[in-house]
Amino acid sequence: MKIALIGYGKMGKEIEKIAQSRGHQVVARIDPVATGEDFGDGNFEKADVAIEFTIPKVAFSNYQKCFEYNKPVVSGTTGWLEKLPEIKNACEKEGQTFFYASNFSVGVNILFELNRQLARIMNARSEYDVEMTEVHHTQKLDAPSGTAITLAEDLIESIDRKKEWKLDKGQQKSDLVIKALREGDVPGIHTVKYESDVDEITIHHSAKSRQGFALGAVLAAEFAAKNKGFLGMRDMLKF
Ligand code: NAD
Repeated sequence: MKIALIGYGKMGKEIEKIAQSRGHQVVARIDPVATGEDFGDGNFEKADVAIEFTIPKVAFSNYQKCFEYNKPVVSGTTGWLEKLPEIKNACEKEGQTFFYASNFSVGVNILFELNRQLARIMNARSEYDVEMTEVHHTQKLDAPSGTAITLAEDLIESIDRKKEWKLDKGQQKSDLVIKALREGDVPGIHTVKYESDVDEITIHHSAKSRQGFALGAVLAAEFAAKNKGFLGMRDMLKF
């Protein structure tokens, strides 16, 4: 498969290594800073699929570019989700293919599933309060992380006593507090903690490196090259 990378930063470089180890060819590396390569330079159109890991403010316009070329796009960039309805619309009405995951790690997606199951149990256990913590490296631009938002939204969907998530500090009992810490080069730690007067129950995922995210993004690209529409990890992993 021929892959175009959009964004050649930490993730772009890690994805390139994994893609090549799985027999794929990287035909374009679009990044105004790291490579200077652009969409119109002649390489992008050769790609079967694009993988986009950039920064929140440019992600949506990159997706539009991919759609102009009718290329399936896999993206892990976080912090742009207010535009999601427009992307879903392009998939439904224009036949585009877009695979998004707030976290491409298979382990984190197992955590997502545990979180949904635990939240369903905990809805009836009002003696427990719940809060979340996420820790990432100091260059991360958005807070809370996209992964923490996914965990929070899934939790709120099942736990009636929690109404909305709040960053760092809640005002009401119905607020789900997400503490976001920025430390060193941490690739990503997420914790959901339930606490009663007598005990604590915690589910926790800690990434050892960026490799798990990169592998998931390449698996998603393989999936997006063969499937159409708006796709996600649950479609691919069949949870
Ligand atoms: P990074 O800062 O190392 O790399 C971002 C790259 O994007 C830089 O090289 C920058 O020059 C480039 N860029 C900026 N504007 C661009 C444009 N218009 N077109 C193309 N490239 C452009 O960041 P990173 O660690 O690689 O992370 C990238 C994004 O992926 C972040 O939003 C991060 O939160 C997210 N992320 C998601 C997952 C996941 O599993 N979904 C995992 C890790 C990181």
